[in-house]
Amino acid sequence: MTQTQIKEIFTSIQGEGHLIGYTQLFIRFCKCDFKCKYCDTDYKPDATSEIYTANSLAERIKSYDTKNIHSICLTGGEPLADAAFLKEFLRNITLPVHIETNATRTEDLKEIINMVKYVSANIKLPSAYGGKDCFKKHAEFIKMCKQARKDTYIKIIFDENITDDEIKKCVDIAKENDLEIVLQPVTKGGKITVKSRYLPEVLERFRQKYWHVRLIPQVHKMLSVR
Ligand code: SF4
Repeated sequence: MTQTQIKEIFTSIQGEGHLIGYTQLFIRFCKCDFKCKYCDTDYKPDATSEIYTANSLAERIKSYDTKNIHSICLTGGEPLADAAFLKEFLRNITLPVHIETNATRTEDLKEIINMVKYVSANIKLPSAYGGKDCFKKHAEFIKMCKQARKDTYIKIIFDENITDDEIKKCVDIAKENDLEIVLQPVTKGGKITVKSRYLPEVLERFRQKYWHVRLIPQVHKMLSVR
């Protein structure tokens, strides 16, 4: 039986993307295969993290009063780094499932896609996250979400260094799959680090190429909730 370490389980208000404002039950996984320079998510295991089997985590979830909970949010870290665990765990879950992912692990997503309803697919911009170009992997991943008819949006975390080439590559993926882009300025320590004059400018650079783009900061941080 597979088991994994879970950083934390909590209910809160979703502060990003399509499901913004809904109450979700968040499960934070402890692994991640990226090292984004803007990351301020505390996902690494610590003394309070707990090890669960698929069954024991499902039991824990059942102990919550879920009548006012819109959906479960699998977050991290990168939940798909635990795909084998998720495959067992999600079989026992009745609430709709939303996954927040770095949108590169297509083979892992295939394992669980039938048990997922919503996908927040984060395209990583080299100019902002500080790593290599993953656009090919993102394109493959997002195409699969679309083909499987998942409720998907594309999240893009950006700063002042975003390039025209990155914008074009993001827009190409969004257009090909007819999906919405949600732009999110880099936030650190609860503060947006992108100067405000750049925000409409970046939005406009996208909108010159594609109509279906919104800019939304991390609302949960403005609300001072998790
Ligand atoms: S993918 Fe997410 S959790 Fe992982 S390092 Fe990047 S921002 Fe942090």
